[in-house]
Amino acid sequence: MCKMSTEKIRVVGRIKSQALHPRAWRQLHTVYQSVELPETHQMLLQTCRDFAEKELFPIAAQVDKEHLFPAAQSLYLGPILKFGSKEQKQKWVTPFTSGDRIGCFALSEPGNGSDAGAASTTARAEGDSWVLNGTKAWITNAWEASAAVVFASTDRALQNKGISAFLVPMPTPGLTLGKKEDKLGIRGSSTANLIFEDCRIPKDSILGEPGMGFKIAMQTLDMGRIGIASQALGIAQTALDCAVNYAENRMAFGAPLTKLQVIQFKLADMALALESARLLTWRAAMLKDNKKPFIKEAAMAKLAASEAATAISHQAIQILGGMGYVTEMPAERHYRDARITEIYEGTSEIQRLVIAGHLLRSYRS
Ligand SMILES: Cc1cc2nc3c(=O)[nH]c(=O)nc-3n(C[C@H](O)[C@H](O)[C@H](O)COP(=O)(O)OP(=O)(O)OC[C@H]3O[C@@H](n4cnc5c(N)ncnc54)[C@H](O)[C@@H]3O)c2cc1C
Repeated sequence: MCKMSTEKIRVVGRIKSQALHPRAWRQLHTVYQSVELPETHQMLLQTCRDFAEKELFPIAAQVDKEHLFPAAQSLYLGPILKFGSKEQKQKWVTPFTSGDRIGCFALSEPGNGSDAGAASTTARAEGDSWVLNGTKAWITNAWEASAAVVFASTDRALQNKGISAFLVPMPTPGLTLGKKEDKLGIRGSSTANLIFEDCRIPKDSILGEPGMGFKIAMQTLDMGRIGIASQALGIAQTALDCAVNYAENRMAFGAPLTKLQVIQFKLADMALALESARLLTWRAAMLKDNKKPFIKEAAMAKLAASEAATAISHQAIQILGGMGYVTEMPAERHYRDARITEIYEGTSEIQRLVIAGHLLRSYRS
């Protein structure tokens, strides 16, 4: 095996420590906060950034490598807050807000993901219970969750209008977990099937009215897409920061990589994609906060940010060359983590369908 020279070890070490150092990350990140935000938003942004720097940044590589789970909520709380009764919120939300307990959101099935209205899991009314049968697939946090919002058909003849939403405690008799999926990225969270076999839950476990489930699911996903867009922005930003740091420190042909125009053009395109996606995401969030229609904008934000994250992390690996391909540097992890944002909570194809649907309706009306 070829041994690295002392000089090479020193240079790579310097590049790695700078590219990984939170302070460098912060300085670069600040450059991109060019749009003036109200003070409260700036404070929130700063709080989130401080949390990410102090709590997440130092453990990210280890979480990925060892499949550790840093508890985080999923889509579970949103639908209960929006559609739950006062009693349901007390029972199913309050104990989950401290972070001690987490929940999961179970919509997809082995036979249908994008076509969620084709749910084959059933819920049958029996005495003072609902009895659930079927399998929900790909459920994030399944292994750690203390409860699930589960979508099941109460009347299959009605297709998506026959789907209802249920609040299910975990563990509970009649519910078993599938194996943990071995994933390309987001390896710090578990993903598994929920298998229901005559799983009996109380009658008052239904969220909203029977038949409202599809509406609850779609409205939850509309909101969630702004969250996935934000997740993608975070991955894209850190991938860009990593690439800039590396290119500033890596010498080629007697000068740093950043002196090469081809690298500058790559960085410019990456920054453009990131800033465009960021503005779309902020616009969607602003519309939602102001209770204005935001479905098309949330789809645009998710589509732009997820595709930007994949493209930016792809180019970041290219800029790092061989160092982009090994686990010593975070670039390969950013690339693996980015990919899921184009798939879950509605694939890129589904976002395009949502956008086109709204666009065409607006022309026809
Ligand atoms: C890591 C991970 C975590 C997940 N977490 C959750 C979770 O917590 N809860 C949950 O309910 N689900 C979860 N999912 C499921 C996820 O939402 C689905 O995988 C996703 O919606 C796509 O569904 P599918 O895999 O069945 O693909 P399919 O729907 O079979 O799609 C396959 C391909 O066909 C395309 N396609 C399908 N229909 C159309 C159409 N009409 N027009 C154009 N193209 C189309 C898709 O875009 C895709 O490219 C998770 C998935 C993963 C991988």
